[in-house]
Amino acid sequence: MLYFTPGPSQIYPSVKKHVDTAFKKDILSISHRSKTFQEIYKNAVKNISALMNVPVSHHVFFISSSLESMERILQNCVEKKSLHLVNGSFSKTDFEFAYQLGKEPDIVEVEEGQGIELNKLKVPSDTELVMVTQNETSTGVMIPMKDIHDFKKNHPRVLVAIDIVSSAPYPRTDFRYVDMAFFSVQKGFGLPAGLGVLIVRQEVIDRSVALEKKGVLVGTYHSFSSLLKKHNEFQTPETPNVFGLYLLAEITQEMKRKGIKKIRQEIDLKSKLLYDFANTHVQWKPFVKEKKFQSQTTIVIDVKGQSKKVVEYLKKKGFMVGSGYGKFKNDHIRIANFPQHSVKDVKRLIKEMEKIKV
Ligand SMILES: *Cc1c(COP(=O)(O)O)cnc(C)c1O
Repeated sequence: MLYFTPGPSQIYPSVKKHVDTAFKKDILSISHRSKTFQEIYKNAVKNISALMNVPVSHHVFFISSSLESMERILQNCVEKKSLHLVNGSFSKTDFEFAYQLGKEPDIVEVEEGQGIELNKLKVPSDTELVMVTQNETSTGVMIPMKDIHDFKKNHPRVLVAIDIVSSAPYPRTDFRYVDMAFFSVQKGFGLPAGLGVLIVRQEVIDRSVALEKKGVLVGTYHSFSSLLKKHNEFQTPETPNVFGLYLLAEITQEMKRKGIKKIRQEIDLKSKLLYDFANTHVQWKPFVKEKKFQSQTTIVIDVKGQSKKVVEYLKKKGFMVGSGYGKFKNDHIRIANFPQHSVKDVKRLIKEMEKIKV
């Protein structure tokens, strides 16, 4: 079965080889305070930084998931006011977390499938942080990185955090204009779930320390200052997912060898094939109408109530695609377009979809 589901998704082809090597090297038994672990940690940071152009002004932390990243960011950088751009279910979750943590979040909400024009936003003067779900996996809306960079240029004092969980490593992030970014490994890195990556600017950590001094609860072992302290020794405060980190270091090494340029080119090509298919279909249509906001990595197709039939048909042919999210369960299919999905397999998937009678 080939998994075109938007997370967990298809495993990167070479993962099996790396799992075998991990066994041979006793990676599953080593201490997380050992030199071997520190090397793995260092390599993972180095490779991610190279692949995604993360400058020395930012730190790469490893935590358990992206929902955790949302919580950590809100706890560590917001005293009261965060602003949430909501266009689907993941962005909504983040907004709800802010409430649950006792903050006073503001919300800008648009209908599902609509984009948000960041540079027309009215930002309240007391906003400390803006959370942008750069790729909303539930609806297939992608906010262009350029809009995010321009937003930060126009609002230098507001912290900008981006959820790139289902787009990384594809987006061309200019970290001069992004304070925090996060993703999980079970999407565009083709790995088993259970590891989150959170990239944080040093100044943001200083802010977290200042909040802590003021008496704001910033968490315990995963407060930014605690993460940084261990990060400086190439370690994590807790016993981490050593296996996941090892695999991440290996996969990102491979991605580096392939080159991010080539990875992006392939994603562009595959997304064009998928959107061309949806645009010319007699009945189905891309759910996101405005081209500017159509995700390259999560293609959502409105199949007019036939989701169940389509998913079942493709499953029989060896392709697992996602059904619609939440209330769109029966109306949409969602197709992940990640680095581990080959051009050849996307073409085969489209061929099968063309055979489905509507
Ligand atoms: C999957 C996903 C998450 C949650 O990731 P976890 O690893 O399950 O915590 C958050 N945001 C978006 C956009 C996602 O696609």
